[in-house]
Amino acid sequence: MPLEQLVLASGNAGKLKELAHLLKPLHMTVRSQAEFDMAPVEETGLTFVENALLKARAAAAASDLPALGDDSGLVVDALDGAPGIYSARFAGPDAADEDNNRLLLERLDGLPLERRNAHFHCCLVMLRTAEDPAPLIATGTWHGQILEAPRGQGGFGYDPLFLDPKLGVTAAELTMTEKARISHRGQALTALIERIKEG
Ligand code: IMP
Repeated sequence: MPLEQLVLASGNAGKLKELAHLLKPLHMTVRSQAEFDMAPVEETGLTFVENALLKARAAAAASDLPALGDDSGLVVDALDGAPGIYSARFAGPDAADEDNNRLLLERLDGLPLERRNAHFHCCLVMLRTAEDPAPLIATGTWHGQILEAPRGQGGFGYDPLFLDPKLGVTAAELTMTEKARISHRGQALTALIERIKEG
C-alpha cells in the first residue's frame, strides 16, 4: 500500500517536531491530529504499546487516514521503572516538563551517578485504518544516566537531565539530527519505515 499521507497521533509539540523531521526522507504528507476534530485520548493502557495503539486508532478514526501513534517515556532503574508510561504526568495530570524534571531530581536526590541508570523507550504503532487488524509496531530504547542538574537547551521533556555516557552529552545538547540518529524514537522509526517499505 503506497503511503501518501500519515497523521501523527500526538499533541506533544516536541514529539511532533521530531517525528516530522524523521519522516522527511519518505516524502509523504505528514499531518497533525490537531487538524482534525478529536477528543483528547485517554491513555488507559498499562503498557507503551497499548497506549500507542489507542492514540493511533483515535487519530485514524477522526481523520480517515493512516495514523502513527507514539507512546514513550523514561524508565529509571532506581525508581523501579518509574515514571515509565506516566512520564508526561509524573508530577501531576497537567505537569510541565520542568515540574517532571524537578520531581525526578527530588526522587533521585543523594544517589551517585552509577546508581542513576535509565533508558528512554519508544513504541510506535501505525494503523492503515481505524479497523486495521494488523498494525505495524516498532520499538526503540536509548540507555543513559540521569544527571543531578539540567544541561542543554534542545529537545524536550527529560532531555536536559538525560546523559548519553558514550557521547558525554545530554539529549538536550544534541542537534535534532544527531538525536534522531541515536534516540529511542529514531531507532523505532527506522525499524517502522523498513516495515512500511516491505509493504
Ligand atoms: P506520552 O506523550 O504519553 O508518550 O509521554 C511521553 C513523555 O515521555 C514526554 O512527555 C516526556 O516526558 C517523556 N519523553 C518521551 N520521549 C522523550 C524524549 O525524546 N526526550 C525527553 N523526554 C521524552
